[in-house]
Amino acid sequence: MGTVVTTANKEANGSAETNKKFTVVFVLGGPGSGKGTQCSNIVKHFGYTHLSAGDLLRAEIKSGSENGTMIQNMIKEGKIVPSEVTIKLLQRAMNESGNDKFLIDGFPRNEENRANFESVTGIVPEFVLFFDCPEEEMEKRLLSRNQGREDDNIETIRKRFKVYMESSLPVIEYYNAKGKVRKIDAAKPVDEVFETVKGVFAPASNKVAA
Ligand code: UDP
Ligand code: MG
Repeated sequence: MGTVVTTANKEANGSAETNKKFTVVFVLGGPGSGKGTQCSNIVKHFGYTHLSAGDLLRAEIKSGSENGTMIQNMIKEGKIVPSEVTIKLLQRAMNESGNDKFLIDGFPRNEENRANFESVTGIVPEFVLFFDCPEEEMEKRLLSRNQGREDDNIETIRKRFKVYMESSLPVIEYYNAKGKVRKIDAAKPVDEVFETVKGVFAPASNKVAA
């Protein structure tokens, strides 16, 4: 009797169910808008686990998986990897984390990502944290961040901006129409942005504690 934790991996029959008990916040915004940086801050204060879809894909390339070459080519072109691949990585990371609260950073990037994530996992995000930043500021940050990423060159950056405008912004609009978007002015210095971010998470975490 009592609540039984659902078995984690139902990959085999492709059934959703997996993680219905998980709380998920999608962290979205253009390339270089500060998603990763702010997620690290949120983790320290609010007990979430940070899952960067881009980091998971880059780790998959490094692991020598059979999808590695395909993922690498898509990232170099700024294209969006098929949701099947990304969702599997996210599910695995959630199930292995031991936590039940996640910041999913840089995903969903298009309508296909969004719809499949919801149908495969059964998870609807609590809200969407949206880092709004002008393109020229994002470009400046990407060109100066020096993380050794193959896609932080001006040619790929332009492609990523285009994909963001055409495919990712509509996802933000979709959630905005549902009243789920918390928009943050992300053009300011890191500490100032985090002050605003805190205001979004603090009331929610109080509610849980009460
Ligand atoms: N990417 C993807 N699906 C995702 C997340 C990332 O295909 O769900 C790929 C895509 O090619 C993207 C790249 O990984 O341009 C880098 O994504 P990341 O979120 O790391 O970059 P950011 O936008 O934070 O600079
Ligand atoms: Mg990132």
